[in-house]
Amino acid sequence: MQLLRGTKDILPDEIILWQYIEKTAAKIMTLANYNEIRTPIIESTSLFKRSIGNGTDIVNKEMYSFLDQNSREITLRPEGTASIARAFINSKLYTNNKTQRLWYLGPMFRYERPQQGRQRQFHQLGIECIGSLNPIADAEVIRIAHKLLNTLECTDYIMEINSIGQLEERKKYKQSLIEYLEPYIEDLDNTSRNKLYTNPLKILDSKNTKTQEIIYNAPCLYDYLEIPSKQHFEKVCEYLDFLGIQYNINKKLVRGLDYYNYTAFEIKTNSLGTQDTICGGGRYDSLIKELGGPNVPSVGWAIGIERLLITIKNQLHKKIEKNKPLVYLAVDGQNTEKEILNIVEILEKKDISYNLDLDNNSLQQQLKKADKQGAKACLILRDYEIKNNYITLKKLSTSEQKQFSIFNIDDLIRTLENMSQNL
Ligand code: ATP
Ligand code: MG
Repeated sequence: MQLLRGTKDILPDEIILWQYIEKTAAKIMTLANYNEIRTPIIESTSLFKRSIGNGTDIVNKEMYSFLDQNSREITLRPEGTASIARAFINSKLYTNNKTQRLWYLGPMFRYERPQQGRQRQFHQLGIECIGSLNPIADAEVIRIAHKLLNTLECTDYIMEINSIGQLEERKKYKQSLIEYLEPYIEDLDNTSRNKLYTNPLKILDSKNTKTQEIIYNAPCLYDYLEIPSKQHFEKVCEYLDFLGIQYNINKKLVRGLDYYNYTAFEIKTNSLGTQDTICGGGRYDSLIKELGGPNVPSVGWAIGIERLLITIKNQLHKKIEKNKPLVYLAVDGQNTEKEILNIVEILEKKDISYNLDLDNNSLQQQLKKADKQGAKACLILRDYEIKNNYITLKKLSTSEQKQFSIFNIDDLIRTLENMSQNL
């Protein structure tokens, strides 16, 4: 049986990196009063159509949608924000607190062409600051992204930021952009040509060189923004300057989802080639209202964990130790098994990690396995030990052996605890 295209198993060797990222994220989020939320992986298809938007690539081409047994239209979530907005409304999270700070981590699904850094099932870690229109909220979420990346020793990146204004401003701009592009319609790449009337803004970030040349002299969205949009953007930049967070203003930056307004940003790294964006985010002030909730402005971002990992995997591997048992439990003989189970319970109570041999090989082979697994010591229990009421501890680094009475196990535990403290 083969793995589905665009999906990956995350094996134990790599899981330790994921756990480290999760732990680091949880710590940073909790300090800033962001609380974790977990929403279902399946949602009504209409949720994504209404939020992400009908003209977008995600909704048009990338959704994993199906009819369930009761002919309901269901979609595997392609991103996290829409579900969180829905949960916020359903659970009336706005009743007690004006501001809700939430974070999430989980699998997302998009039917895309799989390649390095682009999968069909991938994972996003994201935050949403719901309830504030203040530009300081934009700066807060951006600051947390930087804090997290830096703590994870991902430093080779640059943030691009732009303001995409308000819906009305974009409407006027779209019209001018279409008028500008129409004479070049034959010269645009196919994808861009198809977007000309449905989602012309997305043509701005086309990777096609010819299209980029055409776009070079296109009207600029920023010139269509009114004073409040510009002021909001200037404030955000002012806070970022104050925080010493570097950024490039990229006036051609737009986002692939319809629900954004004002701030849009992406964090790009130099070490990834074409799939270079590790984080994307922005403000979405009207999304919750659009979905039938109250009028609450919000801002957030999502980091693609797989892409982040490509950039920091090597450093993290050096830093994070594989799970190693402190003691390997080697047994040999007819009557040893029940006794070793007693020992297991005692070790567990004392938080001492162990690995019980299940293969019943020779003692020599068991010692070899203990060494291979990186255990510090081996507890040996043979019929011989049972008969004399003791257990043998062998330190693997020195091969030093010592016997401990089974009737007074405290001595043994103390020795093991000392070993674990000296790790
Ligand atoms: P791209 O332009 O690379 O397709 P996007 O704009 O579609 O990215 P977002 O919807 O903003 O991506 O998602 C935020 C982040 O999630 C991205 O910056 C990226 O790190 C990650 N991501 C998105 N799609 C994928 C995917 N198919 N595989 C792996 N990671 C992804
Ligand atoms: Mg995409």
